Amino acid sequence: MALANEHYLKLQAGYLFPEIARRVQAFTDANPDARVIRLGIGDVTRPLAPAVLEAFHRGVDDLGRADTFHGYGPEQGYPFLRDAVVERAYQPLGVDLKPSEVFVSDGSKCDCANILDIFALGNRVAICDPVYPVYNDTNVMAGRTGEADERGYYAGITYLPCVEENGFIPALPDHPVDLVYLCYPNNPTGAVASLDELARWVAYAREHGAVLLYDAAYEAFVTEPDVPRSIYQVPGAERCAIEFRSFSKTAGFTGVRCGLTVVPEALTARTAGGREVSLNALWSRRQSTKFNGVSYPVQRAAAAVYSDEGWPQVQENIAYYMENARIIREGLTGAGITCYGGVNAPYIWLKTPGGLTSWQFFDRLLQECHVVGTPGSGFGASGEGYFRLSAFGDRENVETAVDRIRSAWGR
Ligand SMILES: *Cc1c(COP(=O)(O)O)cnc(C)c1O
Repeated sequence: MALANEHYLKLQAGYLFPEIARRVQAFTDANPDARVIRLGIGDVTRPLAPAVLEAFHRGVDDLGRADTFHGYGPEQGYPFLRDAVVERAYQPLGVDLKPSEVFVSDGSKCDCANILDIFALGNRVAICDPVYPVYNDTNVMAGRTGEADERGYYAGITYLPCVEENGFIPALPDHPVDLVYLCYPNNPTGAVASLDELARWVAYAREHGAVLLYDAAYEAFVTEPDVPRSIYQVPGAERCAIEFRSFSKTAGFTGVRCGLTVVPEALTARTAGGREVSLNALWSRRQSTKFNGVSYPVQRAAAAVYSDEGWPQVQENIAYYMENARIIREGLTGAGITCYGGVNAPYIWLKTPGGLTSWQFFDRLLQECHVVGTPGSGFGASGEGYFRLSAFGDRENVETAVDRIRSAWGR
């Protein structure tokens, strides 16, 4: 009889989005004429930029002719895309990478999960709270934790609360950890970390021999010039950090699927016997064995994001979402609601008014404004009393939603 991986049984049921769907369904059943506006989604809505679409089509056409056909590509990605990432995404930030440090993938959720393959089970892991659930759940699946307590905290993981009081930037752990997940600009809080704050984490990692797992999925939404877009803008980070990036939110690739992971050649970890090993070599080996690369037309489409024609088109979509974010943030602030985020990230993290719990606010917003958002408590215990609104919607819906919230809560 085959034995199952029992660590999966420790996972709490995927409760958040099914519960939201259940409550919205119950509301629409009871109020069939209500026009419900959904600002809960973490998915983009704008179509692919024209230059990206064109490159995608050309890539497909290449596959239809013998002289331009492509079969298996390099597992780490085609040079045309790895080179474009080095030159167009990192060099402008003053970050010098080699193409061999860039690994193209089918999205960064997979990479954030798969990266655990190259780290020993004995590593002590720190995770922010609230958080993108992938970091936590993949550690549970790997068997690095015990059971969850009533807060949803798993035994063996160090949770770093990110709340109003610390500006949603976690304090350094009070005991040594080996792997630290950081995500800036942050989902769900919309917070960003300054260069000094990231430098504090790099110094910590260098001192403890820890590795930072830096999720930069939202770097493209940074609008303020001083806000870092990459952990490698901190000198020394190439010796202690892996960075994940994605074309999903940046260029509307949530359905196309393409991301990338940077594993610098200077980055090492130790064996139990004390020998230093290259994490770049381990990740390259991991990808060659378990992954066969991203489809050729998708990589052509991704490279077009950096083209002279594609780049401004992609920026236009981002600006559209960030204008939504501004409308939400300013509208709600005007209604007396305390809002965070929405300046360098497509999420507004609001403090629930009147001391409501996240779910109480969800219900009132749905009942009184016919607007759907995401309860902060669904992202972790420290998200209680907060609520996430996403800027990925349609402009008219965003404006209507804000008007409704202002008349319900406005003073
Ligand atoms: C959306 C998102 C990603 C990107 O996931 P893909 O698999 O590339 O679509 C990664 N991290 C966070 C925090 C996200 O919100």
